[in-house]
Amino acid sequence: MVKRFDGREYNELRKINIKSNVVDNARGSAIFSFGDTVALAAVYGPKPSKMSLDYEKAFLRVRYNMLTFSTPERKKPTPGRREIELSEVIKRALEPALLLEEIPGSIVDVYVEILNADAGTRTASINAASLALSLAGIPMKDLVVALAVGKIGEKIVVDLNKEEEDYDSEKLKKDHEKSKYIEYYGEGRATDIPVAIIPSEKKFTLIQLDGEISNKELNDALNLALEKALEIKNLMKSNILKHLSSDNFIY
Ligand code: ADP
Repeated sequence: MVKRFDGREYNELRKINIKSNVVDNARGSAIFSFGDTVALAAVYGPKPSKMSLDYEKAFLRVRYNMLTFSTPERKKPTPGRREIELSEVIKRALEPALLLEEIPGSIVDVYVEILNADAGTRTASINAASLALSLAGIPMKDLVVALAVGKIGEKIVVDLNKEEEDYDSEKLKKDHEKSKYIEYYGEGRATDIPVAIIPSEKKFTLIQLDGEISNKELNDALNLALEKALEIKNLMKSNILKHLSSDNFIY
């Protein structure tokens, strides 16, 4: 029977890989992968900041960057409009879970580098950053967990890869090898919905939508996201706990 391009079920995430504290010089760091999409996050601080001393809570800065070799075609090394926007999107998705008022007058820097991109880089970045912030001891009420859900053709799926994000049944009809996938996905194009969730509160801190979807389908997709976020959170949590109990954790 035909399944998704890469053989997954509609509700199956790509293979998740997590590595904690991979950057010695950072206070906390992590690599988070959804299949071939690999994000590295490193956290510096909290450090005193003249800039934020007047404020009652710490100041969070996020920089998202896609490395030149992260895409099949060489990506321009200078940060573009997309990277500036995604830095802000990631910051806003993380901030509601952080107890920044507990470290007032300080600044926390989060640097995210995309090592390899196959769609879903913002969601992998949020997960990597969330892990790195937790490992750095930044006070937070819960991990923020991010993933994409969406509609490909007529099918609701979880964690779209690049081939799925680019789905177009009209184009596929001309492709002898791939036209069989229309049987699975149906007619139409793809709608990508990256979300971030605070699982303990079932609260969404990010919902973006690129494409078209009905209210009912959006509701189904968001419920699927809530369900899968718990699966991701468990993996993230067990990785942190494993790390905290090992000898390489120094405070
Ligand atoms: P996300 O990575 O969060 O899904 P986009 O929807 O903007 O964000 O990008 C989808 C995918 O398109 C990326 O993951 C990457 O695989 C590819 N992509 C984005 N920007 C570029 C670029 N400048 N050069 C090549 N590929 C890119």
